[in-house]
Amino acid sequence: MSRPIKILIIGNGFGGVYALKNLHKFFHNDKKIELALVGEKNYFLFTPLLHEVATGGINPGNIIEPIRKVLGCCLDKFYLGKAEIINFDSHTVQVENALISYDYLVLAPGAETNFYNIPGAEEYSFPLKSIADAIKIKNRCIMVMERASHVENRIKRKNMLRFVVVGGGPTGVELAAELEELIKETFSSYYPEEIMEDTSIVLIQKSPELVPAFGEKIRKKSLEILRKKGIEVMLTRTVKEVGLSYVVINENIKIFTETVIWVAGVKPAELKFNQPAKQSSDGRLVVNEYLQLENHKEVFAIGDAAAFRDANKNIFLPALAQVAEKEAKAVAKNIQLLINNKIPEKFLYRNSGNLMSLGQWMAVGEIFNFTFSGHTTWWFWRTVYLFKLISWRKKVRVAADWTMNLFSPRDISQL
Ligand SMILES: Cc1cc2nc3c(=O)[nH]c(=O)nc-3n(C[C@H](O)[C@H](O)[C@H](O)COP(=O)(O)OP(=O)(O)OC[C@H]3O[C@@H](n4cnc5c(N)ncnc54)[C@H](O)[C@@H]3O)c2cc1C
Repeated sequence: MSRPIKILIIGNGFGGVYALKNLHKFFHNDKKIELALVGEKNYFLFTPLLHEVATGGINPGNIIEPIRKVLGCCLDKFYLGKAEIINFDSHTVQVENALISYDYLVLAPGAETNFYNIPGAEEYSFPLKSIADAIKIKNRCIMVMERASHVENRIKRKNMLRFVVVGGGPTGVELAAELEELIKETFSSYYPEEIMEDTSIVLIQKSPELVPAFGEKIRKKSLEILRKKGIEVMLTRTVKEVGLSYVVINENIKIFTETVIWVAGVKPAELKFNQPAKQSSDGRLVVNEYLQLENHKEVFAIGDAAAFRDANKNIFLPALAQVAEKEAKAVAKNIQLLINNKIPEKFLYRNSGNLMSLGQWMAVGEIFNFTFSGHTTWWFWRTVYLFKLISWRKKVRVAADWTMNLFSPRDISQL
């Protein structure tokens, strides 16, 4: 019997997991195909709800799912570890001590936080990319509240209780709004009024508007809502330096704070190859219209690490879960076509719309040319994300967390 055709996926996030799920639809029970996945963690993380873990709205375990459970019977082999070097000539990937061979390779390693070499940013600020990051942010917020509650000096207390979010993209905006919710609805139940009066949130954004990748109405609406919540939104401000207890922005303005949350952008996760692969100026792997690497038609790249040029807008697609999911589906189809000696299909991206929560009872969204906001949008946002969580078990748990939050303060135990 000839050996199976090996399809190997690197990355256990949106791109990797959805690629495998889609491949499984084509090759279920097909002994001629072997599906394998390499991941640094043994779970899939549902990032769109990470800001709610960071602000105590959802329990950390409820937005992660074990890879072996998510992929079930689809997965022939799972390698827990980091893909260290990819050899295009021998068609192999080194994962720690294992050398894994492939016939088709899907690269979906995602992205990591970009600190842009700003002095002190990596050292003193809190990124939000992983469950561990979210837990650290929550713990930090609780710690400064506890410490500040014993500080008599009002100026010092105000400085301690100033929470700074750097980055006015969707993650920064959602996080700032949820932080306000944590302070207003939860901390206020436990700390005296004079302490609460000294809390504040500052959102620093480099460009003249929030969420610049979204439509004009959503950009204006989110600014209006955040300001209404009392969040100080600083536009056209660039962080120059981060220190242990301050942030310096342009014009040498120093903002005192003990909590800087850094959600100002990402850069593609680095992969090593035995020969250079074409990259965009921001380091992503350039792919053709079939999502293949140039000169390596058996290698595909998807998600945050891939640079696919949207022919309609002549820009690379943004780093979004829905982009990764759609690319994953297209790649699975193309691999199936190639295995069957057929011509692959060109990938065409259609945006399904954007949704953004802005704290309890408030969300904004745009689908096609319609923009909407308010309570109904918030319910819609919650329903969409609840359904997008993979297992029923986690859907029920997140729904339970959300329901509890409507009636009682969030859990402020440090984790
Ligand atoms: C806080 C936050 C909120 C977000 N909210 C939204 C949202 O509301 N809507 C939306 O559309 N998008 C959102 N995004 C963006 C979305 O998460 C990404 O676009 C999406 O996860 C990209 O999928 P991916 O598969 O490329 O990368 P990821 O999902 O990041 O997965 C990559 C995986 O590969 C692993 N990996 C990396 N290198 C290696 C290696 N060498 N070997 C093995 N494994 C490796 C990583 O550990 C990671 O688990 C959010 C992101 C964050 C951080």
